[in-house]
Amino acid sequence: MDRIYLDHAATTPVAPEVAQAMLAYMTQNYGNASSLHSFGQEAKEAVENSRDHAASIIGAKPEEIVFTSGGTESDNFVFKGVALARKDKGNHIITSAIEHHAVLETCKFLETQGFSVTYLGVDEYGLVDPDDVKKAVTDKTILISIMHANNEIGTIEPIADIGAVARDHGIYFHTDAVQTLGHCPIDVDALHVDLLSASGHKVYGPKGVGMLYIRKGTRIAPLLHGGDQERRRRASTINVPGIVGFGRAVELAKGEMKEEAVRQSALRDRLIEGLHSSIEDSRLNGHPAKRLPNNVNISIAYVEGEAMLLTLDMSGIAVSTGSACTSSSLEPSHVLAAIGLPIELAHGSLRLTLGRNTTNHEIERVIEVLPAIVRKLRAISPLYQRRA
Ligand code: PLP
Repeated sequence: MDRIYLDHAATTPVAPEVAQAMLAYMTQNYGNASSLHSFGQEAKEAVENSRDHAASIIGAKPEEIVFTSGGTESDNFVFKGVALARKDKGNHIITSAIEHHAVLETCKFLETQGFSVTYLGVDEYGLVDPDDVKKAVTDKTILISIMHANNEIGTIEPIADIGAVARDHGIYFHTDAVQTLGHCPIDVDALHVDLLSASGHKVYGPKGVGMLYIRKGTRIAPLLHGGDQERRRRASTINVPGIVGFGRAVELAKGEMKEEAVRQSALRDRLIEGLHSSIEDSRLNGHPAKRLPNNVNISIAYVEGEAMLLTLDMSGIAVSTGSACTSSSLEPSHVLAAIGLPIELAHGSLRLTLGRNTTNHEIERVIEVLPAIVRKLRAISPLYQRRA
């Protein structure tokens, strides 16, 4: 059975070109990038080449990029690093209720350390209102952090407008761009962003590597102390193969981003239309237009998301019920709760995220298979029988 992978927001396959580029830095050019001999210098050169690519795709300077172990570390670095470095100025942070757990759990931790956090609500589409950000600012605010695009419902936030609010008040602005790097254009100057998190495995690179963009002059304490790697901003032996893979992945993404966004948006819209027209009592979550080119998130009444996911999996179709991090818990997604989705509908939600290798044929197959699964599940659903 040919399997269909529609969970690219959870992770993407490593591109063959990326794997190939990495291999040489594990088996041949395996030097420590801090070593002064030729092995080390070859490794260092490759890391700096990746740094150039990483900077170039967001309009930054190479020295403003710090390589990390992924999106989670980058987010932790921002919140804890700014909190520590700016605690003389204030203890207030503004973020949104729909951030990834890497942000929300870090905020919760900081709340135990004397910091206060405002979690802004969102509208029915998942949009943060820049006016709400403005209203939440106090003279103690040291950081504003709003994600570029939401990983569950795909809504793209008005980052440039929020960034302008932050800039006008002289407050650092961070965006978690884990779901957008390599998928949507990013220019840190146009967006007024001071700090930006990204991750390799969402962009056909390896897992366990990511980056943090730190605008020149931004005061931030390191998360890891030790050696003087990454200009003393992140200690630890540099993950050369991972960073080489990240750089190659970003380079590939840059070349194909425009075309892929158009191609995937068309497939996404066909999937939305095909499912919506053949499944009654279904709705699209997230913004109809301001959404990631690859994201479809639908709620289907009277059926459980898990039942649909498992039945789809038996047909060789891999999707998610929410974000990968929450899919093992029975709690309804905090994102779907924040957009005001009733709990019963939240439990009947599926996220289907397309990728570089997704074909028209695969989308048509899902449009054929999923409505049939819903019909079968509804036939045995007491909720469906009892509906008004
Ligand atoms: N932020 C967002 C928006 C994400 O979607 C993810 C991963 O799903 C992360 C952060 C965490 O990234 P990583 O898996 O690289 O730690």
